[in-house]
Amino acid sequence: MAERAAPIDYGPPVDPRAEFIKRELDDPAEQIDVGVAIVGGGTAGLACANRLMQLLAEDPEMAQRLGEVPVAVIEKAKSCGAHSLSGAVMRPDALRELYPELTREQWREEGFAFGEVTKEAVYLLPGATAKVKLPTPPPFRNHGNEVVSVSALARFQQRTAEERGAYVLTETSAAQLLVADGVVRGVRSGDKGRGKDGEPLPNFEPGTDIVARATVLAEGCWGHLTGAAIGEFGLGEGREPQVWELGVKEVWRVPRPLDRVIHTVGPWPLKLAARYHQIGGTWIYPMKDARTGEDLVSIGFVVDLEYADATTSPHDLLQLFKTHPLVRGILEGGERVAWGAKALPGGGYWSMPRLTMPGALLAGDAAGLVDTVALKGVHHALRSGILAADAVHAALARGDHDLSAYERAVQDSPIGRELYQVRNTRQPFSKGFLQGGAAVNLSIATKGRFPAGRIHWHRDDAREMFVGDSAESYPRADGKYIFDKLSSVYLSGNATRDDAPNHIRVRRNVPRAIAETWRWMCPAAVYEIPDGAPADGEVDVIVNYTNCVQCGAITAKGGRLTTPEGGDGPLYRIT
Ligand SMILES: Cc1cc2nc3c(=O)[nH]c(=O)nc-3n(C[C@H](O)[C@H](O)[C@H](O)COP(=O)(O)OP(=O)(O)OC[C@H]3O[C@@H](n4cnc5c(N)ncnc54)[C@H](O)[C@@H]3O)c2cc1C
Ligand code: SF4
Repeated sequence: MAERAAPIDYGPPVDPRAEFIKRELDDPAEQIDVGVAIVGGGTAGLACANRLMQLLAEDPEMAQRLGEVPVAVIEKAKSCGAHSLSGAVMRPDALRELYPELTREQWREEGFAFGEVTKEAVYLLPGATAKVKLPTPPPFRNHGNEVVSVSALARFQQRTAEERGAYVLTETSAAQLLVADGVVRGVRSGDKGRGKDGEPLPNFEPGTDIVARATVLAEGCWGHLTGAAIGEFGLGEGREPQVWELGVKEVWRVPRPLDRVIHTVGPWPLKLAARYHQIGGTWIYPMKDARTGEDLVSIGFVVDLEYADATTSPHDLLQLFKTHPLVRGILEGGERVAWGAKALPGGGYWSMPRLTMPGALLAGDAAGLVDTVALKGVHHALRSGILAADAVHAALARGDHDLSAYERAVQDSPIGRELYQVRNTRQPFSKGFLQGGAAVNLSIATKGRFPAGRIHWHRDDAREMFVGDSAESYPRADGKYIFDKLSSVYLSGNATRDDAPNHIRVRRNVPRAIAETWRWMCPAAVYEIPDGAPADGEVDVIVNYTNCVQCGAITAKGGRLTTPEGGDGPLYRIT
């Protein structure tokens, strides 16, 4: 049996402060000047752009002062939303605040909303065929919330931001943070047209310094520049480490409408024994497309990345989950129309880094604003974007770089209040599903009063991995109902150039337990262990990086996702 090993001891060859922070700005003649640079055209970044354009419409003098490009959104995907993925049942208030003129019927006509939740069910799954209906616990009460696609929502937000005068630079990676005299000055866009070994190809275009008076980092889960900023400005000091979860999702066109939101809380298809440290849950959400009349279903599996069995595979666990009669009854006769995978921050309140530094701030998942008990982050991403815009506008009006008012605004808003209530709710599960369950229930029942104090998190990569037997139960793909990873990646529309440089940083020679961890965890089949590699000791890992769908999970388990060339990656439409 392969020896145990912890990914933290085999960290990636990367030095974020040296590589991802640029301290000397280019000659002004070669810079692009913008008013506010927003990195990330997801829910949070685009909420910020829309709110800023609303504020500037009421303040033409400032708009004039900010120059030709008052607000620029820098997005690495082909279009906004193409790298966004969520469940998603959304609490509606923040979106209403951003677009007060729109009704929920209009959301649906726009194609990003799919109906109000009127019924719900939560099941415990003791095994592969059994189910026990539970009284709905408070975090799973979703009456009045709306089923949305964040990918479609971002496309809508991009359109309104552009109509209001923001510039959205898609297919552009922000590769470095510009920092001079202790102040963030903007970002440098990534080079385009480099070959496998970094050599410039005939179509090579170097990156540019995009200099801004304020910078908003809304990069989503584990952002590239966010990580560098956290290190540079010590934003994580005194906080708990961030931990992550990985979600894999499919969208199905189904013959019969589903009339309720469904969650399952395990333990099946995960292992109940504490030594596996597997915690996770599933969702099944109904989606009625108001424009086509089609009945769709969003189905997904989320796993904490603190698990110990290297053969834990979120992609295969979702396939296994689909074999349960509860799910078969819903998907039977249907067709899979979309697939995707993405990580989310799971640490909650105690793991939130400090949110501001001179000249810049963090919003949305980059700031860790997710309640993973209820699986809710969309409304926090939207609200943090709105609050970020207010703080940036106030700092621009004063003419300084102090954005610290945002920190207080987030704490005093529903974001701070909701996350505080569940601040100790997930950590007890680190002990195991049964061992932690009582403390989790107590925390939910007392709205966070007990357990009191601050419960600590452990880094996901500090968990010792062993090669266990979880994989033995994964079903074989049939191409109709059960799918393998490569056909899933194909459905994601992934379009990474074959001769692009490698954007995944991992050590190539690692203990088998680590190599197996990457092989099974990666939903896109990026990591391969060559046939004939030794059963124990160190093995060489093959990295098929062009398959990568940029889910970000590798960063939690001993590697690092860096920014690929702008335009590469999946083309999500309704995830
Ligand atoms: C599987 C899963 C299920 C979920 N279910 C729910 C749910 O049911 N309800 C709910 O409320 N929340 C849910 N969430 C959480 C919710 O989806 C997120 O909190 C929210 O979408 C985060 O939005 P964001 O704008 O912060 O990040 P994102 O949507 O990730 O946007 C970040 C954007 O930044 C871009 N980007 C990143 N780095 C760079 C760079 N350096 N240069 C250029 N562009 C960059 C990315 O391409 C992306 O478009 C779920 C999350 C997951 C992963
Ligand atoms: S290689 Fe890409 S798709 Fe695979 S785990 Fe890492 S970030 Fe996710």
